[in-house]
Parts: sequence; C-alpha cells; structure tokens
Amino acid sequence: MDLGLKDRNVIVAAASEGIARSAAEKFAAEGARVALCSRDLAKLRPTAEAIADTGATVLFEALDVTDEAAVQQFVAQVAAKFGSVDVCITNAGGPPARMFLETTTAEWKSAVDLNLMSTIHFARAVIPHMQRNRWGRIVTITSVSVRQPVSDLIYSNTVRAGALGLLKSLSNEFGKDGITVNNVAPGYAATARLRSIINRRAAKQGISEEAFTTRLIADAALKRVGEAAEIADAILFLASDRASYITGQTLLVDGGLYKGL
Ligand code: NAD
Repeated sequence: MDLGLKDRNVIVAAASEGIARSAAEKFAAEGARVALCSRDLAKLRPTAEAIADTGATVLFEALDVTDEAAVQQFVAQVAAKFGSVDVCITNAGGPPARMFLETTTAEWKSAVDLNLMSTIHFARAVIPHMQRNRWGRIVTITSVSVRQPVSDLIYSNTVRAGALGLLKSLSNEFGKDGITVNNVAPGYAATARLRSIINRRAAKQGISEEAFTTRLIADAALKRVGEAAEIADAILFLASDRASYITGQTLLVDGGLYKGL
C-alpha cells in the first residue's frame, strides 16, 4: 500500500525514544522529511543522526513540549526550512502513577501541561500552515486510558479525556480545510515508559517483573506486550493519504485490552 508520505513534511514531538521515535523512523523510511524534538539533546541527537544516516532529511531541536514559545518557534523553523508542515504527531511522556489521595495540585497542573496543553501548543502552531495547503494530518498519542481508566494512573485517565475533547473539536472545526485529527491509544508497548511502570509496580507488590508482566497482559486478548513499532504503524496509517476519510477518531492499539464493544 502506498501511504503517499513521500516528500511530506512531518513533525514528531517527544521523539528521542519509544513510540514516537519508531514513528519518526517509519516516516523517514517512507521518504518523508522529519523534524524531531524532545527535552534531552543527549538522547535526541543520536536518534536524529541515526535517522539521517538512512538518507532522510532530518531536523531536530531540544525543547520541552510544555513550553509554548519553544513549540511555536520550532514549528516556524520547520516550516521555513521544509517549506510547509503537512503532518504533526503530538506526544509527550506520561504523568506519574498515583492513587487519588496521593495526588497533589502541582502534579495535576503538570499533567495538564504535559498531556493537554502540549497538544494545544502544537495544534495552534501547525494548523495555519496546514490551512494554507488545504491538507494536514494531526495524530495524537494518548493511551487506552481514554476508553478504560487504568488503576493508579489517575492523572492520565483524567487529563487524556480532555485531550480527546480537544481532538474531536479540532476535527470538527478544521475538516473543511482538509485537515484530519485522530488519536492513537496504545495499550502496553515495550518502551522505557512501560519498563519504569513495571519496575515500580512489581517492587510495590513484592513480585518479579516477569510475574507482574504476566498479570498485566492477562486481560489483553493477544496475551503479550506490544512493540513500539506496532503502535507506530497505526500512527503512519492515520497520517497517510490512505486515511483521507477518517477524522475525529481514536484507534486503540492495545492487543485487545479494552473490554468494551
Ligand atoms: P517513552 O518514555 O519511551 O518516550 C517518551 C518520549 O517523550 C521521550 O523521547 C522523552 O524524552 C520525551 N518527553 C517526555 N516528556 C517530554 C517533554 N515534556 N518535552 C519533550 N519531550 C518529552 O514513552 P512511550 O512509551 O513511547 O509513550 C509515549 C506516550 O504514550 C506517552 O504519553 C505514554 O504515557 C503513552 N502510553 C505509553 C504506553 C506504553 O505502554 N508504552 C501505554 C499507554 C500510553
């Protein structure tokens, strides 16, 4: 299937590792120009250089996705260097795991900044460029928690629901401009983020990481943790020409973890 991504100008946020890194690698393999950002230059640079080594055109900049001015400036720079912005994949790390009575107001505000405001910053910056070309794709990366709250991830369960309201609203407002806005919701994917969750929860329960992982995936129809690349494939599809009549949707990529119809 030709995804029609060759020569597209693609921003992938928070992409030094994990799901977004895998997506950036796949966009580059499809012939797109990719612009990556992430907080930590020491991690971002080798990722960007590895992708550039494949022959792709790559831009990168260390920034925090919660910093509105930095996001605006990054998007402007990408548009100036690449000529336009066609695709924007919004992403960030996840908020810390907490039960409700452990939460603090400061952490609630950080979670809103990380998983909602960061998406707003990117959407505000990229949409005018997409409107000019009457074509655009925004794909958010959230979590299965938008359909089924995850025990002890109360920040994620709550804030990502807001991100879904945003995505649906944007899809309604900007569909007339040829812009689609969709969401990929991972279940469990083998990344640094998941490893740290498994490590912390297994220690808390006094069991091995293997035993904890077996419990974790017991509810998934496919009985395994996914790979970052399996989530990234869904992101590429939604960002492609092939998904031209899909907007305002959440695609769960969770191995059958979500139990609703
Ligand atoms: P990861 O921890 O492997 O990678 C996160 C990336 O985001 C890194 O490159 C990190 O440097 C960057 N980052 C984090 N905070 C940032 C910030 N403020 N500014 C700029 N860059 C920042 O994460 P992942 O597993 O690839 O997860 C991606 C998203 O999917 C996260 O929101 C995560 O909560 C969500 N998710 C992951 C899983 C999973 O099993 N891996 C499951 C459900 C949801």
